Amino acid sequence: MNSRRDFLQKITASAIAFSVFPRYGLAENPELYDGPVLRVAIMGLGSYGSRVAEAMQFCKKAKLVGLISGTPSKVKDWQQKYNIPEKNCYNYENFDKIKDNPDIDAVYVITPNALHRPQVIRVAQAGKHAICEKPMAVNAKEAQEMIDACKKANVKLLVGYRMHFEPHTLEVIRMRKAGELGKILFFQGLCGFKIGDPTQWRLNKQLAGGGSLMDIGIYALNGARYMVGEDPIWVTAEETKTDHVKFKEGVDETIQFQLGFPSGAVASCLSTYNMNNLDKFFLNGEKGFAELQPSTGYGPIKGRTNKGELNQPVVVHQTLQMEEMSAIILEGKQPVVPVNGEEALKDLKVMDAIYEAAKTGKRIPLVL
Ligand code: NAD
Repeated sequence: MNSRRDFLQKITASAIAFSVFPRYGLAENPELYDGPVLRVAIMGLGSYGSRVAEAMQFCKKAKLVGLISGTPSKVKDWQQKYNIPEKNCYNYENFDKIKDNPDIDAVYVITPNALHRPQVIRVAQAGKHAICEKPMAVNAKEAQEMIDACKKANVKLLVGYRMHFEPHTLEVIRMRKAGELGKILFFQGLCGFKIGDPTQWRLNKQLAGGGSLMDIGIYALNGARYMVGEDPIWVTAEETKTDHVKFKEGVDETIQFQLGFPSGAVASCLSTYNMNNLDKFFLNGEKGFAELQPSTGYGPIKGRTNKGELNQPVVVHQTLQMEEMSAIILEGKQPVVPVNGEEALKDLKVMDAIYEAAKTGKRIPLVL
């Protein structure tokens, strides 16, 4: 009650919290930290890679030490900004040499979706732990190959599911597990944004592996699983497309999907590249409800339940994620919601089934 951590747990998601936490995530004073540090190279210095690098400056358990990029000018800028030595910089042709670099423990792959599989496999073969962005792969078959490669190389494979560490999200999961919401009956997940530039890789099936579902709908699907606390046993889906030029064959604009769970709970989700202001989770049980809105954006996440407003601390998702991933890799910590390759494989099995359901109009049974 009177420890610093207890105090921090109690304060509301205020500007004070926001100004305290970005510096250190949820860590104690980093100057006093002398535990293990995960030394990370980022592969893909694009927009999300930049966000992760910024956030990692405030980690105590993880440190950005290396870069992998195809653009020398970016490497130069990042080297200066983050004080990265030349010997820790690679390109997409030569990064297998990272094998001989004892100063790098893990590679965080933050490139277009379809590149994840070959890149993670090369990282594993170089003997480094792999952290991979979502979606881990573009289908379940590829995801399984990545898991197998990492197992064979005896390295860990984690996926950038940052919401699995987010305090409001974890509070709803705690309430559900404690029975405070009663038997869970229904989940709704609404995830989308209006996508811009038609030439970007997200609208290229070859690089994206699909459309909105791969990119943003995955949050609703993954959220349905961690909010309900079960894996679905069937899926139905419908796809709608208003712009056949921008959203070509295999690139979904909008998909609505429904999931059925073993307990009888159901989920109804919307994934779209054609609407803004769509970032909401709603979980309904026999004794109560929980609502998060925004639910998966960079935050601040806001939420309420039948008991009132949620006021967990506001955190920088990527700082907290990297702190926790360091603890998972180096200290064997078990997260509340898994972030490993098997967790991502489940999402990809469901996504494969959603695409099949949308195509055939049939209810697809699932065994995860
Ligand atoms: P981006 O386009 O901004 O960056 C992609 C990077 O990959 C660029 O630096 C680009 O140069 C590099 N790249 C390497 N080979 C490429 C190729 N053949 N074609 C195009 N680019 C190539 O994309 P982003 O928004 O940073 O997304 C990267 C990954 O991160 C995606 O898998 C995406 O789903 C994921 N992501 C996750 C979150 C999250 O919140 N977890 C948020 C955004 C993106």
